[in-house]
This record gives sequence, C-alpha cells and structure tokens, in this order.
Amino acid sequence: MTCPTRRERALALANAIAYLDQRLKRRGAEIRKFQPKASGAVLLESYDCGKNCLGCAHYRWGLWIAHPGRWPGGRTAFLCHRVRYPLRHLPRPGRRRTSPAAADEEAPGRVILLQVLISETQSLIRTRTSLVRALDRLRRANAAAKAALQVNTPGTAPHRPVGATADARPPIDPQARRLAAALDAVRTLERIDQRLLAIASDLRKTPAARRGRLQLRQTAAARWVWVTLDYTHGSRLRVPHPVEITDPGRRVHGDEHARALVRKARRLLDARRRLITTFANASRLSSRIVGRY
Ligand SMILES: [Zn+2]
Repeated sequence: MTCPTRRERALALANAIAYLDQRLKRRGAEIRKFQPKASGAVLLESYDCGKNCLGCAHYRWGLWIAHPGRWPGGRTAFLCHRVRYPLRHLPRPGRRRTSPAAADEEAPGRVILLQVLISETQSLIRTRTSLVRALDRLRRANAAAKAALQVNTPGTAPHRPVGATADARPPIDPQARRLAAALDAVRTLERIDQRLLAIASDLRKTPAARRGRLQLRQTAAARWVWVTLDYTHGSRLRVPHPVEITDPGRRVHGDEHARALVRKARRLLDARRRLITTFANASRLSSRIVGRY
C-alpha cells in the first residue's frame, strides 16, 4: 500500500530542518553585520561534528576577545571563546563599555537590535533541536520496526528493497541523510502492511481461524483490526457482522500454526503502532514549525 501523504509528511520533516538552517545562516550574517569585528563581538558559529549525525550542522555562540601581543611580533590575536548565554555578553546601560557595539554613538540602538536578533536566533536553535530529536526518535522506532520484520521472515535472507542503499552507504550531505531517514520509515510502514496482508490471508486458510471465525482486517482508514464474524446480529440473510476483538490468540486455541501467525501479526502490529505514533508526532512538530516561521 502506498501512502502519498506519509511521503509528503516525511519530506516536510526533513525540509523543516533545512528551512531552519537557511534562516539561521541569514541570522548569523545579520548578527555579524551589526557588530564591528573587534574585541567583545558575540557571533553565531556553525560546525560539523563529523560523526555522520542527523543534527549537523551544530550551532554555538562565540565571544571574540582580543589578546594583544599574543602573536609573533607583538601582534594582537583574536580568539573565539565559546559562550552559553550570548545575551549576557552584550553591553548593558551603566556597565563598563567593553563591547565594540557600545563604542560609537549608535550603540544603544545597536545593542537593542542585537538583543532582539540573538534571542530570536536562540529560539530558532531550540526549535531546530526539538525537530532533530523528533527525527532521531523516528529513526530509532524505524530500526525497531525493521528488526520486527526480520524476526517475522525466518528462512528468507535479510532482503533489501530496490533502491534502499541508504544503510550501506549513508549520504554525505546532512540534508540528504535526514531525508533518507524519514523516507526509510515510510518504506518500513509499507513493508509491514504488505507482510500483514500476507499473514491475514494465511490465517484465513487455517481451520482454527475458520472455526473461531477470526480474521485480521484492514479498515478503510488503513487501521488493522482483529475481528470475529458474528451471524446473530444483522439481517435475515445471515450477513456476517464483524465484531472487533482484542484477544485473537484465544480464538485459535490448539492450532500451533494459526497461533504462530497471530503472534507474528501482533508483533508487527505493535511495531507498526509505535512507528506511526512517532512519525505522526514528528510530522506534527514539523508542520507546526513551518507554520510558525
Ligand atoms: Zn553532527
């Protein structure tokens, strides 16, 4: 079963982070523009951790301090010190003037503008962090769901769907890597649904399931349910009326094959539920972010 909406949501998730990165790049340039390159400047820095992670690039704040005479020939060295709270390093009224922003006549206006820019940027970084975390949770839920798929297909070689080379050779570009992680979850959901369809059809063929009138069905809303067919309700024509149940194992008592099928299906349904919940939370977050900024 293909699901274009899920695909679109996966794209939105990866794109939302790329979108925030663009904004952060612009913010960083603006913050730089409003401060002369001199001792006391507070700037936004970005760096790649080199750990092949979903969160690259990472952001941090640097305070540039002049160290006179540090370099050969008595020249001044500018060193960047990492700071956690950039707003604390801006000049404040009544304070000793150490920042270049305070050195000229426009200083008060500049400082206020910098405060606005920096606190806005901090909020963007926080939002981005929560989005990367959501994507990371999705990736872990996806790994667990894939493991459930492997358990459920004994005898078959761990098969790789066509075009799924993401695991073998991770894309270098962080944006491509995030996109691959999101789309991989969509693929896993499709594979789980295919596997459940096959189990549902196998189960119908077992005598025990027929006797217990047990079926695994997918509803119009793409939800999987266990049902028994009830002939007592419904019309005179004895049209079976499906009744949803939660204890499918009891309906196939005594039939090892049918019971094994039910167990496999339940494991897959659990993995599917967890993956969908994580995916829905992550994409809700991403649409909220794109809506806000
Ligand atoms: Zn990184």
